[in-house]
Amino acid sequence: MKASIFIIFCCSLFWYSCAPKLTSSFISDTEGFELRKAPKLFYSCNDQLQYIPDSLTSMKYIRVNVHFMDDSTGTKNFSMKDGEKYMRSLINNANKRLGDNRKMSLPVGNNTPVIPINYRYKLVAATDDPNDRGFYKHLDNELYYFLNKGKHRNNYNRDVIKKYNIGGDSIVNIFVLPHHPDSVKSKTYKPHKTGIALGSDLKVSGLFEDPSKPWEFATLLNHEVGHILGLSHSWIRNDRCDDTPTHPNCWDSNSGPPCDGTYSNNMMDYNNSQMALSPCQLGIINKGFNKLLHKNRKLVRVNWCKKESDTEIIVSDTVQWLGSKDIQRDIRILEGSVLEISCRVSMPQGGKIIVEPGATLKLINSYLHNDCDLAWEGIEVQTRGKLEGKVEAFGNVRIENVVENSPSNL
Ligand SMILES: [Zn+2]
Repeated sequence: MKASIFIIFCCSLFWYSCAPKLTSSFISDTEGFELRKAPKLFYSCNDQLQYIPDSLTSMKYIRVNVHFMDDSTGTKNFSMKDGEKYMRSLINNANKRLGDNRKMSLPVGNNTPVIPINYRYKLVAATDDPNDRGFYKHLDNELYYFLNKGKHRNNYNRDVIKKYNIGGDSIVNIFVLPHHPDSVKSKTYKPHKTGIALGSDLKVSGLFEDPSKPWEFATLLNHEVGHILGLSHSWIRNDRCDDTPTHPNCWDSNSGPPCDGTYSNNMMDYNNSQMALSPCQLGIINKGFNKLLHKNRKLVRVNWCKKESDTEIIVSDTVQWLGSKDIQRDIRILEGSVLEISCRVSMPQGGKIIVEPGATLKLINSYLHNDCDLAWEGIEVQTRGKLEGKVEAFGNVRIENVVENSPSNL
């Protein structure tokens, strides 16, 4: 018995002293890289289908504020107190609906996947004023009303936005306007709920006049913000998505001809549901979130520059990233696995890409950086004995924002 313990002890010692050691080198820029010719492009960083949310896609928070327009009497729209309560309730309900993406109802019998919607609205103050809660009231006899008919129609007019926008193009400014009182008196004018997206802002009307509860306007907000984020009406042919079929835009199952009892539930059609976004539509929205300088990206709170977790992203197969990404964790490529990065990847502050012995990282026309100019640690290439990690670079590759005292720079 004693002898066998001794043998095991010796073997352990032998193994420990003879096992090849793991060593690391760091890459912090493209100097010393052999940049090879890029392979023929079979993808585009602009392909919206590469931006359909997956497990690496983070939640985005779209900044919003609210303006109540009124005339000098201050009686044609909500008071600040009532308006704030109303709009908080409306926005909460709109967020709840975003958290409940539904299966597409069209085409009948479809197998379109249901992907969780990865954005919500966040009310924000535009100033440091402690009383600024993101709600504003303006008394302006010229610009307070909404009119979508007749000679003085102003529904597409941007004057009220130009004058009262706060936060430029970093906040969706929601203007709540009453219908013009003279028009409301007319029998031919319907002061119905309506909205129009104009650039990154939107005008909504009918909320004050309509006795409906705030939640009944939530899908109107989601629809209009859908336009701001780049979506077209989805019943039309050229909405850039194959998973949103054309249809006659029927309101519900009781709609008359040409409706046949089927109807869409897509957020970007006119129907009594507006609770579904397709994968392609989410791809269009997220392409905007991920593209530097895109207007969608300017609207969201930056929450991708630091690590969200110490749990690594494990690559254990051949994986291609064909769209731009903002990554919030370290990446580890396991032996025998390949990660191909095309387009742009932002790494979190202090983060790194670990290429294990026998693993490969391919950089193809790619740009690795930290989007907030914070330092990350670069690419750690590991070697054990004769087994090396490999980094291959093709075409136009840039690596920026790697920490100055990275082991590679010592
Ligand atoms: Zn619309």
